[in-house]
Amino acid sequence: MLFVLLSAIFCASNSKAEIEVVISGASESVSSFRRAGVEYFSLSELTALYGERLSWDIPGVSVEYRTGNNRMRFFIESQYLTLNDSVRNLIYPAELRDGALFLPAETFVPIINQARTERFLWDSNRRRLYVQSGAFNITNLLVSKKANGLLIEIQLTEELDFEVTESEGNWINFNIPNGLVNRSLIESRRTAREIRDINAFQFDHSAQVSIRLRKKPHAYNAKYNPETGKIQLAIRNPNYKPKDKPPHAGQIGPDNTVDLIVIDAGHGGADNGAIGRRYTKEKDISLKISLELAKLIRKDKLFRVILTRDKDVYVPLEERARIANEAHADLFISIHMNASVNKHARGSQVFFLAPAKTDASRALAQAENASFLTHKNEIELDSNDDLAIIVNDMIQNSYEEVSADLSTIVQSEFDRTLGIPSRGVDQAGFVVLNQVYMPSALIEVAFVSNSKEEQLLRSKSFRKKVAKSIYTALKRFKRKYEKK
Ligand SMILES: [Zn+2]
Repeated sequence: MLFVLLSAIFCASNSKAEIEVVISGASESVSSFRRAGVEYFSLSELTALYGERLSWDIPGVSVEYRTGNNRMRFFIESQYLTLNDSVRNLIYPAELRDGALFLPAETFVPIINQARTERFLWDSNRRRLYVQSGAFNITNLLVSKKANGLLIEIQLTEELDFEVTESEGNWINFNIPNGLVNRSLIESRRTAREIRDINAFQFDHSAQVSIRLRKKPHAYNAKYNPETGKIQLAIRNPNYKPKDKPPHAGQIGPDNTVDLIVIDAGHGGADNGAIGRRYTKEKDISLKISLELAKLIRKDKLFRVILTRDKDVYVPLEERARIANEAHADLFISIHMNASVNKHARGSQVFFLAPAKTDASRALAQAENASFLTHKNEIELDSNDDLAIIVNDMIQNSYEEVSADLSTIVQSEFDRTLGIPSRGVDQAGFVVLNQVYMPSALIEVAFVSNSKEEQLLRSKSFRKKVAKSIYTALKRFKRKYEKK
């Protein structure tokens, strides 16, 4: 049974003291009393200002306060309380007076700051409680475990300077001038085994977020990613070696010949990719073009070819990369169809792997990546995000230039032969390219969402033209790079 604690039965004659509560500049007051130099205030009245109320958990024994997703329990005459599942110490006991719950301001304010989104600040000299709402610019902390280490991300709402320091006991500290940190959320984040503690501190003109690791970090780096608005701390696992990393990063093939081509027909199986207005499925067109291209390659015997799929099956991204890496392929060509909500969008476009420079290419990469992500049970998520990109950067950079060149050659063949608009070469963070350790390109042949281009993609002669253009581009690429 629950009883609402009555906060309003104070007699006017009862000459109770009050503290001032300044909520976003507006002044309110809340009953208080002082005992042995400790200022207590009525939480019942404070929560009433927010339209919230306290209730008995066990009548006469414990009081419950639910706010947002947090739940506090206070025990009458006890200095202990629980915040969700953790025990906190008020130092001074919670008091019940006239049916209202009173708490010691000095020691309770840091605790309520962990439960509510506002920031509470107790000024003991003025006996004033300041409450600021919605002012956080350090809003969250995310920890994710990767095959090659640990990624810790601090979410900001605006770009802030920060300084990283290490301190005794394996602490890594982010000192963030002008930071207003959502301590409650950050300190309650679920973490990884490698992390012992996460603390957040709010100071007058700065904030600090501290992460305590179980072991001294071997190597880490921190940087602000303007695309995601996150400070990223990548802690490398020193024992990790990418198993598919070829011995000759940056070269064209192990023997400096362009010989083995992996053709990756995008999507497949349950993953349809984009679908046109006439129900043309991206997965079917990408497979048909890939098979056509493989046929051309096999006829000439100028190259060898491997297909990541040759039928309508779902192949996880990791598997696609593994096939190419284990074969020590020289080039990786991923074939896709584009789509847009704008049905007038049309044209061909070739991408290489690098951080997206425009919103449009970022959106496209997200759309292509999303179809992989829907199969995340089957996919090693390590490849899907920023740490993979951070760590793979070094390896990928050595291919970026060659990949850009490959993409340019393919695009120029398209421009010459396909008779559809050229959208040019661009760069984006495609997951599928991120784990292949060789020059690569992702081709968006045409828009399945544009009725004219959907029509073309359905025609065998157009698909043959596409395959032939890519093949010509491969030959051009081979001539250019084998000369070097
Ligand atoms: Zn696609």
